[in-house]
Amino acid sequence: MKLVEYEGKDLFKKYNIPIPNRCGVLRIGDDISKIRIDKYPVVIKAQVLAGGRGKAGGVKIAKNEDEARSIIKNMLGMTLVTHQTQGKGIKVEEVLIDEASDISREIYISVTMDRKASVPVVVASKEGGMSIEELAKEKPELIVKMPVDVEAGLMPWQAKDVGYRLEIPKNLLNDFINLITNLVKLFIEYDASLVEINPLIITAENKIIALDSKVIIDDNSLFRHPDIAALPDRESSELEKEAKRIGINYISLDGNIGCMVNGAGLAMATLDTIKLAGGEAANFLDVGGGANVEQITNAFKIILKDNKVKGILVNIFGGIMKCDNIAKGIVEAAKNVDVNVPVVVRLEGTNVKEGKEILKNSGLKFTQAESLWDGCKKAVELVKQ
Ligand code: GDP
Ligand code: MG
Repeated sequence: MKLVEYEGKDLFKKYNIPIPNRCGVLRIGDDISKIRIDKYPVVIKAQVLAGGRGKAGGVKIAKNEDEARSIIKNMLGMTLVTHQTQGKGIKVEEVLIDEASDISREIYISVTMDRKASVPVVVASKEGGMSIEELAKEKPELIVKMPVDVEAGLMPWQAKDVGYRLEIPKNLLNDFINLITNLVKLFIEYDASLVEINPLIITAENKIIALDSKVIIDDNSLFRHPDIAALPDRESSELEKEAKRIGINYISLDGNIGCMVNGAGLAMATLDTIKLAGGEAANFLDVGGGANVEQITNAFKIILKDNKVKGILVNIFGGIMKCDNIAKGIVEAAKNVDVNVPVVVRLEGTNVKEGKEILKNSGLKFTQAESLWDGCKKAVELVKQ
């Protein structure tokens, strides 16, 4: 689960990692009078799940209330396109307003997993601000890496060593050591897969502050982090949230062939095969092992709510469930839902013959497929028409 900047900074605060003074967070429709601003300038920051906001107009400084009001008004509701949004934009629903900092140096630090070594690793650089990917390309010699023992945490000598290599001034070294030690602690205790501060700054008043935050928590650990699980889900679309509520594993994609498949592996193979046949899937959908009438009905409903869908491919393997029962389920569900696009069905497994008979005699216009490849080709053909 990805956190937005102010949520990540809330975690930093909990771990005594210094952050700028916060004036507040505003949502679409809120007026600036909702928050208290004691001191200008302030920095107004779009709270979206993408970096590179600075260059894209999602980070702006206001010197007085008039400026702040106008920046907030323009930023809330705008569509932000950054180098991390894959050509699309993200709508800005919230802005964070912090007291602005006077920056004298920008540094990069993060903790992530070193998957080869199977340990967390601190990655840092004395030059912050630019993305670590760019830095790795242009100045790889400036990147400092320090592996961490999960049981022991970051050892004092390691924290000090990173501080030296980043050329942290002597009088700030202790603050830096505490900060980075706490950052590693946060990473481990919260089961994070990434915590990043870019930039960590040294201010003109010689303080060290986390100016930005990027935190990703492993979804599989949410059961033991109720505070994180309770945060709003900003990554899923409305349809994905609805599917989640009714227990269907659904992810929307960009194409026009709706897919209903049982089993995640078979669903992935179906997406690949559609692509190979020259089409694009509209979604990933795993109806699960049971695949009863209710679930199939719900899955049809979800798929059809996406108005990109021009045809549906049902690809179900009858293992636990026999194909004749699945076919009955498909027929009943299709009657319930009023399916208004062509449906290709590929059934395989136990009692497949009986299943196909049921589909054929249903009075509904299913196109039957002999294999996955055949089904994908037929679906691609049908959506083209
Ligand atoms: P990102 O572009 O999405 O990573 O957003 P950041 O929060 O990292 O901000 C981008 C850049 O804006 C920073 O690297 C700073 O140079 C600048 N910036 C952000 N906040 C402040 C601030 O309080 N004062 C000043 N002077 N610059 C800021
Ligand atoms: Mg940043």
